[in-house]
Amino acid sequence: MILDGIGDRACRALEGKTPLEAAKTPNLDWFASKGKVDYCYPVREGYVPESDAGVVSLLGYDIGNVYRGSLEALGLGIKLRNGDLAFRCNFATVDGLGKEEGNVLDRRAGRTLTTHEARVLARAINSEVKLPFKFEFYPSVQHRGVLVIRGGFSNNISNVDAKDGKIVFSNALDDEEEGGKLSTELVNNFVRQSYEVLNKHPINLRRARKGLFAANVLLCRGAGNEVPRFKKLKGKWMSSADMPLEIGIARAVGMEIYRSKHPKFRGIDVYANLYAALKKNIKYSVRMLRRYSKKYDYFYVHFKATDLPGHDNKPLDKTRMIEMIDERFFGFLRKFIGERRLVVTGDHSTPCSLKAHSDEPVPVLSFNCANVKAGERRFTEREGLKGRRWVGRKLLEGTLFKK
Ligand code: ZN
Ligand code: ZN
Repeated sequence: MILDGIGDRACRALEGKTPLEAAKTPNLDWFASKGKVDYCYPVREGYVPESDAGVVSLLGYDIGNVYRGSLEALGLGIKLRNGDLAFRCNFATVDGLGKEEGNVLDRRAGRTLTTHEARVLARAINSEVKLPFKFEFYPSVQHRGVLVIRGGFSNNISNVDAKDGKIVFSNALDDEEEGGKLSTELVNNFVRQSYEVLNKHPINLRRARKGLFAANVLLCRGAGNEVPRFKKLKGKWMSSADMPLEIGIARAVGMEIYRSKHPKFRGIDVYANLYAALKKNIKYSVRMLRRYSKKYDYFYVHFKATDLPGHDNKPLDKTRMIEMIDERFFGFLRKFIGERRLVVTGDHSTPCSLKAHSDEPVPVLSFNCANVKAGERRFTEREGLKGRRWVGRKLLEGTLFKK
């Protein structure tokens, strides 16, 4: 079970506690008291993981060939060939993109773009942007999307992303002969042309009138040019995750995919929508666990919501989400678990005060994986540090798979 970005630091709004410490979690406490609490560097010490590297590593793999763009494409069910260049894209907001570098006002268009709006914008991009190679832009969930350029390209290039509030374009990272330059020209050209299409699009004009961030630029990152392939995980696995990245990873390691549909985005209250999505996801995961507990050996559950309040510096919301998961998910699991094993951790820390991922370890709770003495314990960063030290790649081997 992965709680995305769960690790945190002491928060002033929580009287010096972390969200895990501040949250009332009777059910997680029950598991912790009867299980073991350790800590884990999802990838390795000193490394700040994105979700892709964090999850892949926790599942026991080397992150050498992990490319977010290709994994996201796989998660959307897009057929890739080796050489196709795939990016994870964000609809974002810039104040212009002329000769001067644009200021990035929001990396996710205020997180208020609806999936429907994104689909309409994507249609305009696909019909109006012209590149010398075949390409497709796929919207996924809200501000997220994937760009695929078909052909045989180098992916040894940097991201189109925000840096110090300005947009930076892609640069080749390899020698001239290796083709990185062509890839950067293509993606940069795509970003400039799509800005022209997006910026004057009626959807964005309407958003501006409502005081919402325009979705007028596409940031493109995590370039991949290979079909992701990993050795299959041992045992029969199923996954319940609702974001394309986690679905792509689950698919790449041979899991069967189950996913709940995203609830329709209602109104513009971002957090009301996040809570609704989390609730739905919890309910769905519980239902799948019940239904398929005999069919599969292992079940991978990923809740994405807990990462977002870290990025937004909202420790109270992070705490509330943890409480919601404790009540609705771990409350069920407590009755369901029996002799089954459970490992709970995060793919990285996302401290509220940092508003970004950090290299700090995440706590790990393992239950029924070893003989331990019952005692007062909680699943928190501080308690974790009193336990054993893990690195992501070794974690399942040493807990879930341990004989
Ligand atoms: Zn993550
Ligand atoms: Zn994050």
